[in-house]
Amino acid sequence: MKVTDRETIPFNRTHISPNELDYLAEAVCRRSTCGDGPFTRQASELLEKITQAGRALLTTSCTHALEMSAILLALQAGDEVIMPSFTFMSMANAYALRGVVPVFVDCRPDTLNMDERLIEAAITDRTRAVVVMHYAGVACEMEAIGELCERYGLALVEDNAHGLGGAYRGRPLGSFGSMATQSFHATKNVQCGEGGALLLNDADLVARAEIIREKGTDRSRFFRRQVDKYRWVDIGSSYLPSDVLAAQLTAQLESFGTIQARRHAVWRRYHDELADWGAVNGVAQPTVPDGCAHPAHLYYLLLPDLVNRQELIAHLSKRDVQAVFHYQPLHSAPAGVRYGRVAPEGCPVTEEVADRLVRLPLFADLTEADVDHVINAVQTYEVN
Ligand SMILES: *Cc1c(COP(=O)(O)O)cnc(C)c1O
Repeated sequence: MKVTDRETIPFNRTHISPNELDYLAEAVCRRSTCGDGPFTRQASELLEKITQAGRALLTTSCTHALEMSAILLALQAGDEVIMPSFTFMSMANAYALRGVVPVFVDCRPDTLNMDERLIEAAITDRTRAVVVMHYAGVACEMEAIGELCERYGLALVEDNAHGLGGAYRGRPLGSFGSMATQSFHATKNVQCGEGGALLLNDADLVARAEIIREKGTDRSRFFRRQVDKYRWVDIGSSYLPSDVLAAQLTAQLESFGTIQARRHAVWRRYHDELADWGAVNGVAQPTVPDGCAHPAHLYYLLLPDLVNRQELIAHLSKRDVQAVFHYQPLHSAPAGVRYGRVAPEGCPVTEEVADRLVRLPLFADLTEADVDHVINAVQTYEVN
């Protein structure tokens, strides 16, 4: 079946930054590995610098940061939150857990971001918030979305799992919403296996966020000696990562510049060297509108149809290249149907692109020879 004898180029492989093993050893040898230690502080500060967020709280995952956002918005069962159908299920799940109804809006055919022109029609008197996700780290139309939220008095949350280091008109992604969430899952640009963060741009949210993250207690204030004992004061859960994970994350964030330079180099080669092949075969490449600086989180191609998408993945697999697809639309997923509602226009674009999209390997440690091989393998596929 295989047509080469090289090792498979994986879809993703984690990068090990220069200080990573030393910091891990340091965290372990400190013999105090619980959350909110010195590395947690360092990682949070680095994150605040990159995103210009008012405050960054490390969490155990982006999923958990989204759950915190749902609690912080003080939503009631039956309230509605507008979000894209073309995204990771954690966004909808976090709100469904609170009895809130996710209302799924279609995506734009160019950036695959939630189509801002369709949001207004999805607003009802139960709508409380709009949650955006910057697909591939290419910003949503934040000016239009921000204005809409202001006009209707809706909260704005950014799921910025793809967008760390990206910007919209010069302003970092993650700084637009009252809250934004990050992921440090192994597949993200900066990673610690499993991890995340909640970015808080509204200072009024910080005190309650600290409590929610600490099992509903005022332990953060206790550690700062602002109260003499800590007590159960609100609902919450255990959303703090160990300082060992924060050590790994600190090293990764210190290497952010290097990681990004390498990812951008790979992204740029795919984009330039597959342009002719794409034009001849009717395969679309990513669109990056003016004013959007993306962080090379992923590289995708849009094939003409599902059959060609599946055949390209099989073709690449035979040539030892692991390519993958995502996302399965949320509005038609079993839980999406049970817990959510689809916006009036439906999600025809989401349904179509979900069938046509393929992602190529993209990680900092890809060699030039690996990239040559991937490009070659794609170019030998003929769309039919
Ligand atoms: C990866 C990802 C998540 C989930 O991140 P975890 O840290 O694994 O919970 C959520 N949303 C988007 C858009 C993602 O890409």
